[in-house]
Amino acid sequence: MSDRIIYLDHAATTPLDPRVLAAMLPYLSEQPGNPSSIHQLGRAALHALDDAREAVALVLGCTRKEIIFTGGGSESDNLAIKGVALAQRQRGKGSHIIISVIEHDAVRNAAAYLEQIGFTVTLLPVDRAGLVRPDDLRAAMRPDTALVSVMYANNEVGTVQPIAALGAICRERGVPLHTDAVQAAGMLPLDVDALGVDLMTLTAHKFYGPKGVGLLYARHGTPLTPQINGGGQERRRRAGTENVPGIVGLATALTMAEERRPTYAARLHGLRDRLIDGLLDHVPQSWLNGDRELRLPNNANLGFAFAESESVLLLLDQHGICASSGSACSSGSLEPSHVLTAMGLGVDAATCSVRFSLGQGNRAEDIDAVVAALPTLISRLREVAAHTS
Ligand SMILES: *Cc1c(COP(=O)(O)O)cnc(C)c1O
Repeated sequence: MSDRIIYLDHAATTPLDPRVLAAMLPYLSEQPGNPSSIHQLGRAALHALDDAREAVALVLGCTRKEIIFTGGGSESDNLAIKGVALAQRQRGKGSHIIISVIEHDAVRNAAAYLEQIGFTVTLLPVDRAGLVRPDDLRAAMRPDTALVSVMYANNEVGTVQPIAALGAICRERGVPLHTDAVQAAGMLPLDVDALGVDLMTLTAHKFYGPKGVGLLYARHGTPLTPQINGGGQERRRRAGTENVPGIVGLATALTMAEERRPTYAARLHGLRDRLIDGLLDHVPQSWLNGDRELRLPNNANLGFAFAESESVLLLLDQHGICASSGSACSSGSLEPSHVLTAMGLGVDAATCSVRFSLGQGNRAEDIDAVVAALPTLISRLREVAAHTS
């Protein structure tokens, strides 16, 4: 047991940055106003909300009106998928939607719900590296296609999709494109025009902001049916008293993440390669899942033959090392990852894969500690497996 925890699960969540907490605190105590109230406390809250919206719009290269604050990434994905699909169907624009096969469960299950109520869903395949091919999108397009959703960067293997190329195809046909950019924030450019997207999901807790607050960017004119009905907040697109401290935290965290993005991404890229090379060198029968370069600078997803990931994770945890078997949502279930199987891995290889996702607090010593500890853990597990089979 080591006393220092080595946290390599930033794709699941990140710790709140103390500077973000400091920006939030006034709105948790001496500034309790409701932004809809007419009095001075209400106006102060509204002012904070406006400033946050302005800061976020600056990072995304959009207008303030195009930002909808939500209760997180899952809500934003649901609003984008269901909200656009239902609005499009109502306008007679068709009831066919296209998503990639490697989407987060929030998109996959929102699409599955639409299927239950009469929509048709096409799943775009990915290649061995986890990449969507623009030609496959072109081929999947139908006259009644109402929405396309392809994530910017995958949460399990970190693959970065050719969003601008997919956006061009959608634009030619006048079909809105949504991207789940949750994992890209702080790592990749988020300019919505350069990306050519009409809708984009972000959630604060993946970039050192608070949990339970996110946003959906919706390009001006994109049809959108609200999924939470009530008061007229967020320009009638998302009812409910705004999470003022959370939104202030989100905006502060996003601004900080964008400012330091180049140096941060370069530093993590170096640590990531140190980890990948170290593990591939020191663990026999290991491999990297996903493309070596077209991946997030903080993602290393590796397979270790004959070492079941749940067992690897438990042993790593005993050494104070926090990693994951892919998505936090599917760990604990014995189902192999839908992302890895879509990339062509067999069930055995998919259940022997571990995700390390790096972040702010990681140092070279942390990486070296993992590279030092893992080979012994893996060979112990392989010995046990050999004796029990
Ligand atoms: C974490 C995550 C989500 C869900 O965000 P929540 O704020 O936890 O609901 C959605 N998409 C991706 C790619 C994620 O990594």
